[in-house]
Amino acid sequence: IRKAAGTTPETERDYENALRPLSFDSFSGQREVVENLKVFVMAARMRQEALDHVLLHGPPGLGKTTLSNIIANELSVGFKVTSGPVLDKPGDLAGLLTSLEKNDVLFIDEIHRLSPIVEEYLYSAMEDYRIDILIDKGPSARSIQIDLAPFTLVGATTRSGLLTGPLRARFGINMHLEYYDTETLTRIIHRSADILGVGCDTDAAKEIAGRSRGTPRIANALLRRVRDFAQVKGSGRVDREIACYALEALHIDRYGLDLIDNKILNLLIDKFNGGPVGLTTIATALGEDPGTLEEVYEPFLIQEGFLKRTPRGREVTQLAYEHLGKVSTPSQGT
Ligand code: ADP
Repeated sequence: IRKAAGTTPETERDYENALRPLSFDSFSGQREVVENLKVFVMAARMRQEALDHVLLHGPPGLGKTTLSNIIANELSVGFKVTSGPVLDKPGDLAGLLTSLEKNDVLFIDEIHRLSPIVEEYLYSAMEDYRIDILIDKGPSARSIQIDLAPFTLVGATTRSGLLTGPLRARFGINMHLEYYDTETLTRIIHRSADILGVGCDTDAAKEIAGRSRGTPRIANALLRRVRDFAQVKGSGRVDREIACYALEALHIDRYGLDLIDNKILNLLIDKFNGGPVGLTTIATALGEDPGTLEEVYEPFLIQEGFLKRTPRGREVTQLAYEHLGKVSTPSQGT
């Protein structure tokens, strides 16, 4: 995936790909997940069998796509990528499945967004490496069975709760990715800076890491922005001073909360007396999509203790009041 030497990655996607670790050894963090996967991959290799199907779940940007790619690399097999919303019809899936070679890895991102017909179609493929395809139309239409090469499906989802029972049951390996600690993110930032050929001080890497919401994708994106500031307003080297300056300019506070996070907390406090408020109400008031709010913003605010999910809706915590320098007024009726 890495671009040829001498060319610089241009788009956000190119940039992400250039920084993607390609082996278990260059993938930092998620120790337990990686150690277990290594064993399963090695066992499959020794038996020359397809690895069991793998389900990876966790918030966006934690390395699900990266890990699936690594799994294929470490198995020395082919790798194909698609995603739930893209697979419209069973025919799309059939085309992909029949193109797989023995023990290849098929990665389906956002697997919770598969349509029910496509999902059902996937069951026999996963279980027996077999699919039915419909040939001809009208009165002569009939279905024939096709044997597939054994393959590994790696499914990724940010919402494992939305997966149906039958689909979930077909994954032999089920793993959850956690947010990264600052130390691991610091290591990831150093590695990325090396690949980009930009000098980066350790205290600068730490500063960026601490504000990256435990997420490598965000750490890499912030590094890229800080590098811009270093080039234009600094010496070209990423030091702590320019990192703080850039993060300030980007409105990323010391907890890694950005403008939208703070808008959510401010809204709950100012308009709803701290909550509880339903997710859709918050989304409407902010003009944000409820799904994005639930998958991207909320998990981090909850994990960091700024927000609570209660049966009656979302509620801010004392920490949120302190963080924003506001005073909590006791609500009536609770
Ligand atoms: P997801 O599929 O979970 O949304 P990705 O696998 O696309 O996340 O990762 C997003 C970015 O973060 C990629 O550029 C990837 O290189 C980087 N990244 C993710 N996890 C790690 C890790 N453990 N070590 C180094 N870089 C990582």
